[in-house]
Amino acid sequence: MAVDTITDGVVVSLVYVLTVDGEEVERVDMDEPLEYLHGAGNIVPGLEELLEGKRVGDRLHATLPPELAYGDYDPEDVDEFERELLSIDTELEEGLEVEVEDEDGYTYVATVTNLTDDMVTLDFNPPLAGKTLTYDVEVVALREATEDEQAHGHVHYADHDH
Ligand code: ZN
Repeated sequence: MAVDTITDGVVVSLVYVLTVDGEEVERVDMDEPLEYLHGAGNIVPGLEELLEGKRVGDRLHATLPPELAYGDYDPEDVDEFERELLSIDTELEEGLEVEVEDEDGYTYVATVTNLTDDMVTLDFNPPLAGKTLTYDVEVVALREATEDEQAHGHVHYADHDH
């Protein structure tokens, strides 16, 4: 079945430029459009809402405050750890994004914000938390999600499935 408008359960391909504080932080072009499953919370909520009902070729320019993007920056969401208790394979440096696993097996992405000989400070806020995001977006393709994609709540690409 052909899909002509964006609604829940549609896989949407987008190209966009993301600007934060007047600086371009991400550009996704036709070489490799972003694909996401609409209605599954795969992209920031403000953008997902604005894309509802759009068609191939539609463009939008959106300025999203933090509450419609990655949320407010939470200063409590920063923790200091003893370096030897963290099992991180890569050489640590400030600004590095690392994955850490808690005792229940959940993984979190964090940014190293401070390093001493013994201690590591990890910031668990998303890197763009607290930021107003400006998107220039064009919808480039739509297709119906497969049953697997619907069940998993995300897009499966040809080169990786899980
Ligand atoms: Zn999957």
